[in-house]
Amino acid sequence: MTQELINTDSEEHIDNVVEKRPRGRPINPARHLPDGRYNKEPLDPEYYKKYYHIRYCEKYTCGICGKTLANSQKVKSHEKSTFCLKAKQKLENMFL
Ligand SMILES: [Zn+2]
Repeated sequence: MTQELINTDSEEHIDNVVEKRPRGRPINPARHLPDGRYNKEPLDPEYYKKYYHIRYCEKYTCGICGKTLANSQKVKSHEKSTFCLKAKQKLENMFL
């Protein structure tokens, strides 16, 4: 009798324990594979198709000379061109 009473007391004690608050960031189940490894692939299946469309297919207007470029990939080569350098010199001469 005494042992049963003790066991019931211990079970009640376990039930009364407050659950610990989870620490850290909440785990995203899509990022964790069933093997336990981390899933570093993009969640969107068409991510690689959209990548260049989103980033590089927008037209870019130069802030110095005001010329519109087809892609933002050619910004560096455009800044080195004589057309843009002359416009930059004109701006500098206006302020001097
Ligand atoms: Zn320019």
